[in-house]
Amino acid sequence: MTEEILKVEHLNKFYGDWQALHDINFDLKKGEVLAILGPSGSGKSTLLRTLNGLEDYKDGKIIFHGKKIQSSAKQWQAIRQKIGMVFQSYDLFPNLTVMDNILLAPTKVQKRDRAEVKQIATKLLKRVNMAQYSDSYPRELSGGQQQRVAIVRALAMKPEILLLDEITASLDPEMVRDIEEIVAELSKTDHMTMILVTHQMNFAKRVADEVLFLEKGKVIEDTPCEQFFTNPQSDRAKQFLTDMDF
Ligand code: ADP
Ligand code: MG
Repeated sequence: MTEEILKVEHLNKFYGDWQALHDINFDLKKGEVLAILGPSGSGKSTLLRTLNGLEDYKDGKIIFHGKKIQSSAKQWQAIRQKIGMVFQSYDLFPNLTVMDNILLAPTKVQKRDRAEVKQIATKLLKRVNMAQYSDSYPRELSGGQQQRVAIVRALAMKPEILLLDEITASLDPEMVRDIEEIVAELSKTDHMTMILVTHQMNFAKRVADEVLFLEKGKVIEDTPCEQFFTNPQSDRAKQFLTDMDF
C-alpha cells in the first residue's frame, strides 16, 4: 500500500461570515500529483493556502503523516518546511540575489549548513538552466526565469509536498511550456508529491493522477485524472471543460 502523506477531513473555511470552503475531504499519497481544477473564485487558492498554514480554518482536520496539525503558529512553521509552495507572482525577495533567495530559509529557518545548501542550490539551478544567474537580482530576470528560481527556492527546503498555485499564469506562452516541463520532470524523475492549481488543461491531464474539481468552495468531483478528462461525472465539470475549450 502506498503511504498516505496528507489527509483532509471535513475542512471548513470562513472569511468573516462568508464560507469559502465547504466540507472538503481528500487524501494524497506519496508520489501522487493532485490537480485542483475549477472556475475562478471556486476556492482553489484558499485551499492551498490553508494546507500551508497561510490561512486558518474553522473546523475539520488536516492530517500530515497520520498526525493532526494543530493550529498553533509554531507547528505551522515546522510544517511549512515540509509543505513548500510556489505562487503565480514568484514572490522572490527583490533585494537578494538568486543564490541568497534560495539560501535564506534553509540556512536561517532550517539552520542547515550554508555550504551544503549552496551545493544543492547550484545543482538545482543547473537543472533548470539557471546556473549562470546565481548572482543576478530578480529584476534582471524574465518572469519565466524568476519562476524557475522560485521553484528551486522551494525545492532547496527539501519539501515532502509541493503546492503550486497557477505558477504559469503570469508567463508568456513560450515560457509556460518550460515551467510545465520542469514540473513534469519533478514528478517523473523525483516522484515529488504535488498539488497543483492550473488553468492549463493539457498540463493537468499530462501530469496529474487525480483531479479535485471545485465549485463555490465545494468538491464537485474527486476523480482519477484520465476519467475526469474523458468522462467527467458532473454536468458542471463537463461545462467547465467545454468552457476551457477542452
Ligand atoms: P480561486 O483560487 O479558485 O480563484 P480563491 O480561493 O482565491 O479562488 O477565492 C475563493 C473565494 O474566496 C472568492 O470568492 C474570493 O473572493 C474569496 N476570498 C479569497 N481570499 C479572501 C480574503 N482574504 N478575504 C475575503 N474573501 C476572500
Ligand atoms: Mg487562485
